[in-house]
Amino acid sequence: MKQILKLNAFDMNNISGLPDGTKLLAEKRAKYFGSASMLFYDEPLEIVKGEGTWLYDVEGTRYLDLYNNVPSVGHCHPRVVKAVSEQLAKLDTHTRYLHPAINQYAERLIGTFPEALSNVVFTCTGSESNDLALQMARSFTNGMGIVVTRSAYHGNTTAVSEVSPASFKNRTPPPYVRLVDAPDSYRDLPAEIGRKFATNIAMAIDDLERNGIRFAALLVDTIFSSDGIYADPPGFMAEAIKIVHARDGLFIADEVQPGFGRTGSSMWGFQRHSLTPDIVTLGKPMGNGYPMGGVVTRPDILDRLCQYQGYFNTFGGSPVAAAAGLAVLDVIEAEGLMSRAFEVGTYLRHCLSQLALAFPLIGDVRGAGQFSAMELVVDPLTKEPNSALASTVINGLRKRHILIGAAGPYGNTLKIRPPLCFTKSDADFFIATLTDVLSSNEIKC
Ligand code: PMP
Repeated sequence: MKQILKLNAFDMNNISGLPDGTKLLAEKRAKYFGSASMLFYDEPLEIVKGEGTWLYDVEGTRYLDLYNNVPSVGHCHPRVVKAVSEQLAKLDTHTRYLHPAINQYAERLIGTFPEALSNVVFTCTGSESNDLALQMARSFTNGMGIVVTRSAYHGNTTAVSEVSPASFKNRTPPPYVRLVDAPDSYRDLPAEIGRKFATNIAMAIDDLERNGIRFAALLVDTIFSSDGIYADPPGFMAEAIKIVHARDGLFIADEVQPGFGRTGSSMWGFQRHSLTPDIVTLGKPMGNGYPMGGVVTRPDILDRLCQYQGYFNTFGGSPVAAAAGLAVLDVIEAEGLMSRAFEVGTYLRHCLSQLALAFPLIGDVRGAGQFSAMELVVDPLTKEPNSALASTVINGLRKRHILIGAAGPYGNTLKIRPPLCFTKSDADFFIATLTDVLSSNEIKC
């Protein structure tokens, strides 16, 4: 299995081959950031400006961004920039004063959730949100056991790293964490996916309990982003969640990637499965680049945590965060970004499926809304993952000014996750460029 941070990463051993300016920047970065420094692509990019779906490098060359789900409503969206700048010029303080904007934001946000989920706690990152969700689940159930998918990524705090196997190097999960296979709609029959996933979860809970560990929660990204992006068939998660509840555990839905309309037909990924989670965690797209996160849950779950310990977050839910969050919701509504994600995402997958007819090493095209996956294989019959081809395609696209990343345990799946303002003409440019890469001498497809 490939470590998530290694996917599509620049290898510092190749630094001598870089152009002079890039090399100098990369060297200095490595000097100060040390082993934790991460860069994308065989030739790292120096990006200086963003606008809509486009990024611009230091020489003014523009790149179509198919990777970025943080500036979800578009890079530097003027309405978000204006709201944040105006609030920054007026007041930016901690969160222990009354302020109308944060109430208004909480009301708008909670209005997008099922009725039972009526409380929200604001944080600054997805990692903080998942950390808090783990604390909530553990205090509510008196259990410690957490089940996650095998290539999951949920963040970087001490507790959340333990449930993020995608970033494990020389470590294994602690005794109270169990890993299950993600649902695989490419290799399993649609009718079997839900049952298999549920059975694996039941077995993981059995195993925890056999070892004297009480089950606390199933934590999953509701579109299984780092596992390889699995959205179908809608509803397949229902059977698993029934088991989680029957075993007195909680279902934590990580919406850091699928949330805020990306899946096209609903605001939240869990809605695709007609479920009500016990806890929902939010992050990246929430502030369109302004660092925001949140945990939405039932009052009884939050009450239990607060009986056990206090929770305070200095920056989470500040007046500036409220301004950013409100502006993002306004733009999603005003520009019809959810329906655009549905329409353009469906169009894009149709084009990719057509391309797969000409290039058989495209084994599968899948996804929902503006979150698509294209899985590359060695042979369509064996479906053996083709990580080398994925890496060549990613770097071939980068050379032709398209930015894209990889996902899945073998890094052989292209993760197509542009800002939601992505247009059909952006999709056409991508398809033409991808066709050029796949037909080039770089590749034997
Ligand atoms: N959950 C998921 C599904 C994520 O993809 C990420 C970030 N990639 C996180 C949580 C952590 O978010 P952050 O980096 O903002 O802490």
